[in-house]
Amino acid sequence: MSEQTTDVVIIGAGPSGSVAAAYLAARGYAVEVVERAHFPRFSIGESLLPQSMSLLEEAGLLQHVIEGKFQFKDGAAFRRGDQEQSLDFNDKSASGWSTTFQVKRDLFDQILAEGAAAKGARVTFGDEVTRFVHTDNGARLHIRNENGTEREIAAKFVLDASGFGRVLARLLSLDKPSDFPARKAVFCHVRDNISDPTFDRNKILISVHPQKHAIWYWLIPLADGLSSIGVVGPQAELEAAGSNPQSQLFGLVAQSGRMHDVLGNAEQVRPAGTLVGYACNVDRLYGPNYALLGNAAEFLDPVFSSGVTIALKSAILAGRALDRQFKGEIVDWEADFEAPLKLGVNAFRAYVESWYDGSLQDIIFAQPRRATEVKRKIISVLAGYAWDASNPFATDPRRHLAQVRQLGRVA
Ligand code: FAD
Repeated sequence: MSEQTTDVVIIGAGPSGSVAAAYLAARGYAVEVVERAHFPRFSIGESLLPQSMSLLEEAGLLQHVIEGKFQFKDGAAFRRGDQEQSLDFNDKSASGWSTTFQVKRDLFDQILAEGAAAKGARVTFGDEVTRFVHTDNGARLHIRNENGTEREIAAKFVLDASGFGRVLARLLSLDKPSDFPARKAVFCHVRDNISDPTFDRNKILISVHPQKHAIWYWLIPLADGLSSIGVVGPQAELEAAGSNPQSQLFGLVAQSGRMHDVLGNAEQVRPAGTLVGYACNVDRLYGPNYALLGNAAEFLDPVFSSGVTIALKSAILAGRALDRQFKGEIVDWEADFEAPLKLGVNAFRAYVESWYDGSLQDIIFAQPRRATEVKRKIISVLAGYAWDASNPFATDPRRHLAQVRQLGRVA
């Protein structure tokens, strides 16, 4: 069996893996990215948040993404029965990017992986990591190629960016159950043929089921006249709506109100896909010579499109910490990686919880149209600025959201 040595092995070439790879390769480290699939490959998770733009920029990948000509995005629209609210990210309180993209992930992930390779990372496909062994000065990974060949790579450090593959969580028994109940998502792509001139393609549309408020829908316009549509809710309620994912998705979309109306001429271009019980967690994000990035560590919920932004944030924090460690500095992975990452993750956790207990839905639909200071701060978090230490709606969201709801106003 062949054996190589390298500075860093990254498991998985999704957004967190490629961004970490680009960041480290650009600083001169030998980086191997081992990806099980072949790109381009479909992935869910298509609506980005503006905060992700500066993270892509720090990895040197923003220009590659801009050249991908993805659908522009400047906010989020919410709909519940006749209630509607359109949030414009330009109204956020934080400085920084106010706009971003809605991306076809097959193309987006390929662009990021190619960008990482252009900076010097070696990216291989059809390669699955099957074993992790600690060594005196790092770790050794066992890799099985789809053609049956096997090899080992010794690395000073391993970053697990394997998403729901959850490679190190499984191999090192780090799994911890998520606090969230098992929800189900059913989704597909359509050629949307939307002709309604009042529909804003630059915003994700989040609709709440008019009667069952635990069920919500996404409509994410993509480039080239396509849209991603999906419905999320308690597994039993989705399964009661139809005998298979296709009938569940379209049966529930028929009850969605405005979303159903704008999609009146849509044509399905991908079979319905489904994910159940996707929320996951681990009991620690790092250990001797390894750290977990993105979904390989924790995934909360799709409702505020935070997944890719959190994945990129984890990649940049780990990249900065490793760069310092390789330069001989002492890195405290708790203080320099896990704790700062969790600030924003926990802010999003509070928003997800208050979405499902109904309080955030009430705040969103009660908001006046004009931008108040409180509204700016909430929009800031929804634009991904969940790590903003100057924003009390990011640092102490539960208390501040509860106060807003109690007051019944946002000014
Ligand atoms: P991934 O993108 O999952 O990449 C992991 C990679 O690792 C894959 O390419 C996989 O093939 C590879 N891999 C797995 N196992 C192995 C192995 N053993 N060896 C080698 N390679 C391996 N996020 C948003 O930001 N916006 C959204 O609108 C959004 N919508 C979502 C909707 C749903 C229903 C769900 C469930 C999630 C959604 N997300 C969204 C979340 C988003 O998809 C993820 O957070 C994001 O893809 C995480 O990126 P990642 O790099 O951590 O992992």
